[in-house]
Amino acid sequence: MKLSRRVRELTGSATLQAKVDAEKVRREGVDVIDFGPGEPDFHTPAAIKDAAKRALDENFTHYVETAGIPELRAGLAQRFRRDHGTDYAAEDVMVGCGGKNVLYLLAQSAFEPGDRVAIYAPYWVSFPDQVRLAGAEPVILPTREEDGFTARAEVLERALSEGDLKAVILNTPSNPAGAVIPSEEIGRFADLARRHDLLLISDETYEFFHYGQGPFASFAGVASRLRDQLVLVGSFSKSYAMTGWRVGYALGPSSLIAAMTRIQSHDASHTASFAMKGAVEALALPLSVLASMREGYRRRRDLTVEGLKRVEGIRCLAPQGAYYVFPNMKGFMERFGFTTSAELARGLLLGLGISAVPGTAFGMDGHLRISYAVSEERIREGLRRLQDCRDLPLPGGAR
Ligand code: PMP
Repeated sequence: MKLSRRVRELTGSATLQAKVDAEKVRREGVDVIDFGPGEPDFHTPAAIKDAAKRALDENFTHYVETAGIPELRAGLAQRFRRDHGTDYAAEDVMVGCGGKNVLYLLAQSAFEPGDRVAIYAPYWVSFPDQVRLAGAEPVILPTREEDGFTARAEVLERALSEGDLKAVILNTPSNPAGAVIPSEEIGRFADLARRHDLLLISDETYEFFHYGQGPFASFAGVASRLRDQLVLVGSFSKSYAMTGWRVGYALGPSSLIAAMTRIQSHDASHTASFAMKGAVEALALPLSVLASMREGYRRRRDLTVEGLKRVEGIRCLAPQGAYYVFPNMKGFMERFGFTTSAELARGLLLGLGISAVPGTAFGMDGHLRISYAVSEERIREGLRRLQDCRDLPLPGGAR
């Protein structure tokens, strides 16, 4: 079969692959501690499920509006007005099949061959591939471990002095490092975007999971002065433990939102009608529901970071958001004779029954992404296995 050139170089999502590998080992009878998945272990709140069940019972089961049902678009516009003082109207909002799909539609609508798009490493796996699938070129910018891998505007400024850029994709709090961009830095990014006519895309899928002082600093805070150059992307997946529902959204310039909707009209048409009814209900929930999940994650973060720091060869800072840590494993790899984090991930899965995603998937070797969206008991067990580890299988069966 001769596949399209577009897809020949494309590999499937490494994070989804980690899940498949873990499942395979589990089926062989191993008790796998799954630090791999990027999904909450909490369940969708009952009120949201009830709203979707009601929608099904009322036969809300037919095709609906391509950009999403009006009450969800209006509800999102209103939520952003309430929380961030923005002036987005329902027409400036579109809903798609998860944040991932919305980002894909955005890349297809905004990028074309010849465009260069800045992305900070370590990056979420799909950003560079979505840029490439649009025929554009990802330009990978560095962050520093001692900064907690936070994206810095001065790095973007340097890249701009070396060549034109069409856009920058930012992610706060970030996957895989949990890095949160502070509000002063957001201001600097906005200034740069204005000066260089850049499209600024902020993926805030993990907005409710930030552990610093005060409210989360969203790029929505600069929407008033960057209205035509800013797209905010979000999702119900993580905040409301709704990964399987597939509801994500974007707020941005209405012409871009309309273009994304036109593509969706030839693609998925829209996400499931009754799932959107659940999302409308989610917007009505008191924020205290999210606060209790956040506190649960904060406790697990502290437990994970403290435990990892006690393992010889692992260096780990406490991330400010999301539910991942991205420890430096170089000393640990040296200790056991691994040369890449992909080999290490394989060794940990086969030797200790621990699943984690190698840093190479996020453009940074020598690290692992460990998701602590796992029960405290399982985290303790995983940490114990790492702390007690004296031997690991190397690739090719050595040792
Ligand atoms: N952005 C980031 C940074 C993510 O980590 C994810 C999920 N892993 C998404 C977007 C997409 O999530 P979903 O499609 O479930 O909304």
